[in-house]
Amino acid sequence: METLKVLAVFVLPLLGLHGTLGHGPFAGHKVIRVIPHSVPEVKLLQNLLSEEQHLDVWRAPSSVNNSVDIRLSPFEYDDVTNYLLEQDMSVKIMIENVQQIIDEQKAYRNIRESKANEFDYTKYHRLDDIYDWMQNITNVYKDRATLFNVTKSYEGREMVGIKISTQPQNADRPAFWIEGGIHAREWISPATVIYMAGQMLDRYKIDTDVTEMVDSFDWYILPVTNPDGYEYTFVDDRTRMWRKTRSKQGICRGVDPNRNWDLEWCKEGASKDPCSDTYCGPKAFSEVEVKGVADFLSKIENLKGFIDFHSYSQLWMSPWGYTKKRPEDFKLQDEGSAMAVDALEKVYGTKYEHGTISDIIYVASGSSADWVYGKLGAKFAYGVELRDTGKYGFLLPDDQIIPSGKETLQALIALAKYVLNN
Ligand SMILES: [Zn+2]
Repeated sequence: METLKVLAVFVLPLLGLHGTLGHGPFAGHKVIRVIPHSVPEVKLLQNLLSEEQHLDVWRAPSSVNNSVDIRLSPFEYDDVTNYLLEQDMSVKIMIENVQQIIDEQKAYRNIRESKANEFDYTKYHRLDDIYDWMQNITNVYKDRATLFNVTKSYEGREMVGIKISTQPQNADRPAFWIEGGIHAREWISPATVIYMAGQMLDRYKIDTDVTEMVDSFDWYILPVTNPDGYEYTFVDDRTRMWRKTRSKQGICRGVDPNRNWDLEWCKEGASKDPCSDTYCGPKAFSEVEVKGVADFLSKIENLKGFIDFHSYSQLWMSPWGYTKKRPEDFKLQDEGSAMAVDALEKVYGTKYEHGTISDIIYVASGSSADWVYGKLGAKFAYGVELRDTGKYGFLLPDDQIIPSGKETLQALIALAKYVLNN
């Protein structure tokens, strides 16, 4: 995969393509969408992608009528699309030129850099900026917010979160954990979590819904759960699509931190190939980041709520991921999802689907929500896929951060109320 990308950078100018496609590692790369309309077509796509491991899958095949998104270089494009057309499948181009979107967004961030005295919620930030913001905001709201340290990442970065607690005298108050950025390239996830944490602090005692929600729980908020991977996506354009951690795994790097949890670890929907984007790791909890979060969560008394934010697809999902079987609390959990997505839709009309992970995307074992529910018994454990539905995919523009934050905050307010009463 790495060699292929490097090759693309040097070969493109020789082919004289750079004039039309622009410079950069993703020049001329397209994201295509294929919708399988039958079980054999789902299988066909699954086979294709397991044989062509180098392809960058943005949305993996799951079930009939669920779309599959794949990024293709100019070298891969003809082969893959011709193959699919021969199989009578139709191919739609979702993104015409990945590099162009990356370039546009970089230009936007550069313009805004000058007025970045205060933390700017309208753009994506590097880890240092995020940690500065956390330091500042917990200083401003000393009475209700503190920083907590989870552990150090593989490359030695601190994993820092914000704890919001307004009722420390109430020993029975339940706890709610929110995390973002477990998958490196899903930038809208940390950004949305940061926005919501900011609102929970800024709007406390100003907005009654926010106040009630903040008072109801001890909130643990970890915006960047995979700091090494996250920082790696900022190194240059070539690394922008990184998903995993950065630990050394033979000739490849990284483990999928959402396939590394110790419940039905590395069964269906996880790969044993260290070079795969869904590599489950050499053992459960092999990743210090995942183990660190799991240990921290285990020590929280009365943990009732948990959300792991991802992108993209607009889905609010409950366990199980590892099996199609529904857990005994399914009705209760899914009703919570329904409350959340209804409240979310009211803000801008953004539509989310809800259901179990295995039902609405695919069977995936070793995920965070499964472990938190199955091992810690926290009933309301969710995995959420934020905006969008594929127009930009992982390259969601900065101008959608605030809208995503606003609507997701309403979902969280509704869910918190529901969790408290159940
Ligand atoms: Zn993800």
